[in-house]
Amino acid sequence: MPDIHSCADILAKIKGPVALAFSHQAEDAAVLHLALGRGLEGLEVFTLDTGKLFPETYTYHREAERFFGLRIIKYSPDEEAVRSLEKKLGGWGMRESLENRRLCCHVRKVAPLQKALAGKSAWITGLRASQSVTRAGLQILEYDAVNGLIKINPLAAWTDQELAAYIEEHGIPVHPLYAKGFKSIGCSPCTRAVREGEEARAGRWWWESPGHRECGLHLNAGHLQAGGKPV
Ligand code: SF4
Repeated sequence: MPDIHSCADILAKIKGPVALAFSHQAEDAAVLHLALGRGLEGLEVFTLDTGKLFPETYTYHREAERFFGLRIIKYSPDEEAVRSLEKKLGGWGMRESLENRRLCCHVRKVAPLQKALAGKSAWITGLRASQSVTRAGLQILEYDAVNGLIKINPLAAWTDQELAAYIEEHGIPVHPLYAKGFKSIGCSPCTRAVREGEEARAGRWWWESPGHRECGLHLNAGHLQAGGKPV
C-alpha cells in the first residue's frame, strides 16, 4: 500500500483532471494544504452545497478560500428533485426512517457528487479510518467503483493527534463549530455536537445505528494496489 508521500507520485501519473472534495472538515483543510504544498495547484477544489448547511459553513468556506487563495466550486442538488423531496419528506422527514434519510442524502449529496466527479480521473478526500466503524477498512489508494475513478485518501492512517498537530503547526483555519463541541460537520438537521468520549462521527445521524452513518458518498470503494490494479 502506498504511504502518504507517494500520493503526489501517484497523482503525477494520472492523466486527466483531479478533484479534491472540501466538505469543511479539518481533514479537508489539512489534505488541501498538503496537496498545495506538493505542487498540485491544478486541482479542482469542490464542495457539495446541500441547501441544508449551517450558516457558519458558508462563512468558513469564504475563510478557507482566502487562506488557500483559491475558489471552492459549489455543486448543488437539482432544483426539481429538491422540490419533489420536500413535498415527500417535509422539513424533518429525513429523521423518520433510514429510507427517507438515504433518499435525502442521495438527492442533496450523492447526485451532486456525481456531477462534481463527471469527467475526472481521480479524486482526493480527507477521510480517515479512525473516524468511525464505517471507515475502519479505509486505504490510501482505492478504486471508486460507483463513480468509476481512482480515489485517494492521503490521511487514511492519521490519528486525531496527528491531524490536530498538523493543523496547529501550519495555522490552518478550521470550521467555527469545532469550538462548540462538533467533531464532524454536515447538514444542520443531521449534525450535533458530540459528548466526551464519543467517536468523531457520533454527532452525524445520531438516531441511527453506527453502521448506517454514511451519506452514500463513500460507499463501495475497492482497494487498489499502487499500480492501479484492484486487490
Ligand atoms: S445529511 Fe441530512 S439534510 Fe443532509 S442530505 Fe443527508 S439527510 Fe439530507
